[in-house]
Amino acid sequence: MSGLDVSHIHYRYSRKGRPALDDVGFSVEPGRFCALLGPNGAGKSTLFALLTRLIVAPQGSIQVAGFDLASAPRAALARIGVVFQQPTLDLDMTVRRNLTYFAGLHGLSGGSAATAIDEVLDRLAMRERAGEQVRALNGGHRRRMEIARALIHRPEVLLLDEPTVGLDAASRQSITTHVHSLAETGLAVLWATHLVDEIRPDDQVVVLHRGRVLTQGDADDVAGELTLAERFMEMTAEQDEAAA
Ligand code: ADP
Repeated sequence: MSGLDVSHIHYRYSRKGRPALDDVGFSVEPGRFCALLGPNGAGKSTLFALLTRLIVAPQGSIQVAGFDLASAPRAALARIGVVFQQPTLDLDMTVRRNLTYFAGLHGLSGGSAATAIDEVLDRLAMRERAGEQVRALNGGHRRRMEIARALIHRPEVLLLDEPTVGLDAASRQSITTHVHSLAETGLAVLWATHLVDEIRPDDQVVVLHRGRVLTQGDADDVAGELTLAERFMEMTAEQDEAAA
């Protein structure tokens, strides 16, 4: 299938202790914005490390645009764009130089790199910033640039690990809006967060807690009669009580 498909993923950091991920499964179709919603320690970063092959899961499977991450890692990884929690930009270079460097890592140079860079800058409404030093940009623009960078090789799946951490309210809102529009252009988006206000009623949501998927579906269905915030608090508190 296209998009992202995660099935029966288990992961333990050590033989003793509880698993960081326990039978995690969900799919994100092209054109969907999926929020991976979970409190600290839920397993979101562990899942991202597995999706980007920083670590390898002993059980379960991950398919990216129909390519199996374990048996066809190059093809699968080529179709993923990632925005990690920690920014990795060269502050003394301009936006365009940063992107040119990254395009080179993907085998793009000259005219084809310039075209790809203009395209991603336009997608994030950052073209007028191309000549500025990254150091001169505010936090929100730096983040937008990182998202632009993650799209240079035209991936089909975009992964973002808590991309609004440290941003002010206006920048958070702007980034959230931009990424929702990217999903509307056909990308499958997986957005890890612990902040329910970044999620729209028609988004897909996967609630992760203590390494398990508690529920998943459209955000308004998951919320039911409650607000999503109330429902999320209720579900995670029930699990915490059960574990106490
Ligand atoms: P989240 O990103 O949702 O905050 P993590 O994936 O970081 O969650 O953590 C999930 C669980 O795995 C937590 O119990 C955490 O303590 C544990 N964990 C995360 N990284 C490591 C590590 N490198 N070694 C051992 N345990 C870890």
